[in-house]
Amino acid sequence: MQKRGYKVPPLGGQDIFAISKELRKQLDMSDVIYMDIAWLLETLGCYDILDYEYCEDSDTMHYGEAFYNPVEKKILIPDSVYNAACVGKGRARFTIAHEMGHFFLKHSAVLGRNNDTTWKAYIDSEWQADAFAGYFLAPPSLVDPRSTAENIAVDFGLSFQAARIALNNAKKFRS
Ligand SMILES: [Zn+2]
Repeated sequence: MQKRGYKVPPLGGQDIFAISKELRKQLDMSDVIYMDIAWLLETLGCYDILDYEYCEDSDTMHYGEAFYNPVEKKILIPDSVYNAACVGKGRARFTIAHEMGHFFLKHSAVLGRNNDTTWKAYIDSEWQADAFAGYFLAPPSLVDPRSTAENIAVDFGLSFQAARIALNNAKKFRS
């Protein structure tokens, strides 16, 4: 998180929430609290909706935990991330949702990386993919704003940090 990606067409938080919500609707999973993200990845792969591949951990080391190839439109998931997601580790679950975000937000590298670091978050591929992961795993419409980050982390399968963001989003959403 907080890592800079490449420039992409602008999408604000509300846009990304709307896209994640529409995807849940199409999957008939609008009301699912605990999204089984590893299962979903495999299912979408089986139906040729998205392309992914498991890899050795060393294959993605210089890319971080997992990687989305915007040219091939393919997600690369190290075995350790997949295994951790399968046993419910929030960070790994978020990583998979983040890579799916690159795909569903149609990120491509056409605008390229450059040395300009002044661009705004809403046109940054990493910020957008993180926002997608947060909204997709814990839609503000499903998170009880009176709950606690601890409970949200357990219910939605998030890291504590992601749960705190989800709680804030839920409070904003209800206000
Ligand atoms: Zn990313």
